[in-house]
Amino acid sequence: MPGLRNSIVHIISILRSSFSEVVVTGSIIMNKVFSVRVRPDDAIREAEVFSSTFRDTAVLMDDVGFLNSLGALGMVRVRGSLVVFVYDIHDVRPFCEIMGLPCLEPWDGESLIQSIREGRDYSEVFELPYVVRLGPWLSIDGAKGLEVVRRSPTFNKNWGEVMRWGLNRLIGGFSRELPNELLIRAQDSINVAGGGDGVLISGSTWSFIKDKVDKLAGYALVKSLYVNPLPKNLPNVKYVVDIDDFLSKKLGVGRLMMDDVAKWYNDLMSEVMREFFFRGAGDPLMLIEWFIARHRRVGEVPIVILDPAYAYDISSEGLSPSYDMLPTYFEPARFGQVIDIVTSPLAALIALSRSGYEYGRIIAITSPCTLIANQDLLSEMQDIIKPNNSLLIIMSVDNGHESECGDFTELFTKYGIKYSAINYDPTNPTSALMDLIRVNESRGVVVINFSKKAVKHMYIVNDEYCDNCGDCLRIGCTAIRLAKKPVIEQDKCIGCGICELVCTRGAIGKM
Ligand code: SF4
Ligand code: SF4
Repeated sequence: MPGLRNSIVHIISILRSSFSEVVVTGSIIMNKVFSVRVRPDDAIREAEVFSSTFRDTAVLMDDVGFLNSLGALGMVRVRGSLVVFVYDIHDVRPFCEIMGLPCLEPWDGESLIQSIREGRDYSEVFELPYVVRLGPWLSIDGAKGLEVVRRSPTFNKNWGEVMRWGLNRLIGGFSRELPNELLIRAQDSINVAGGGDGVLISGSTWSFIKDKVDKLAGYALVKSLYVNPLPKNLPNVKYVVDIDDFLSKKLGVGRLMMDDVAKWYNDLMSEVMREFFFRGAGDPLMLIEWFIARHRRVGEVPIVILDPAYAYDISSEGLSPSYDMLPTYFEPARFGQVIDIVTSPLAALIALSRSGYEYGRIIAITSPCTLIANQDLLSEMQDIIKPNNSLLIIMSVDNGHESECGDFTELFTKYGIKYSAINYDPTNPTSALMDLIRVNESRGVVVINFSKKAVKHMYIVNDEYCDNCGDCLRIGCTAIRLAKKPVIEQDKCIGCGICELVCTRGAIGKM
């Protein structure tokens, strides 16, 4: 991903010239670019140490990293400056508001420099971490702008709505009161051009409309560097142009040109997300999502937590993601919608169990490497998973014991955790079905071992039996497309057999 890498390298060089310490961390995006191994919450603690010695400190992370570090950010003490730059595909403004963190939204190279100065200087004055939102809309002088060319995580449902259950309890008590002086800073950062009724243009929207400002002739253009806190009494503002609809709701004003802006935004985001929409052909996650969606017990809707290591795109809507930890009550259009949250599976399992959630099962899906990396949490999980309605699924490809990070079953022995194992053999997918159905009744820990076989079978749809129910399309395999009936593209199919399992009409079989 040279575009994203170059842009991030460019940003880091800007930060290095402005701060004495720069910590790079994050989740999916940053890890794919840099193989970052510092956990976001640890990075915040590291930054706190730098800041405690009065050094100007910057942290660069992505949106998932930011969400995973909210607890640490809520407690961090700032003496020198501490500014968190968030590469944000999905809107972190609501979380800044909830946490009481000042948030700036630059729209070009110049306003980025202004944000760096504002955050660096006033973070120290107010002893607060500042947040600066960066995103794919931002064009920076000397770089083409941030581009995401690989898939990244998104979340289904309504990102930014009031969070219930786990996350709000996790951060409860950590949010801060913003000092009144910050409102003065916010007020000072307003830029007004022209006359007439005011239209507030957020930094993330400006790049979409800057070439079309003639459409706003007769209005006063109001740009504010601060999106939290919003300046009070924004001059004459009666409308807002905001791609995420956040500001119009917050200010209670009308929206202007939303159709145009929404189209540009959607075009950009579909470009960014294009590669992220589908599971790769043969992705084992398709099997688990289908199974959870199809075999939910009557009256039970589980909360499903996914390890960020598997977090490809999870939203079929794509543009209205969520981090609210609510179960998927609806019948999913795409089976991937059963995933409710992407975060540390063990930590979320423990947090949700402790929060007193008792309305259904909690299912966490993790990779062996994440399990090994978070083994300190296993001892806590042992107490929780027995009395509670929790299920931990470990997806292991090739070998149920050894992963590239080591033998995770040794940990189960060490902590006295029992587990059951299911083998998924792509040459005979239906043989795994009865085992999978046992998962339906399972508590505790299940290892699903996806073995790879050298023999590759080709799969084909028999039109005669197919009644176009669409289930095979709902797994999201890139090798299946819809013509009159679904068609499997042989050059893309890897022969995993998941679609054969999913098709209850027996219309999919080996060639
Ligand atoms: S799942 Fe089977 S019956 Fe349904 S659309 Fe696909 S091939 Fe046809
Ligand atoms: S066997 Fe089916 S699910 Fe697996 S890669 Fe081929 S088309 Fe996709």
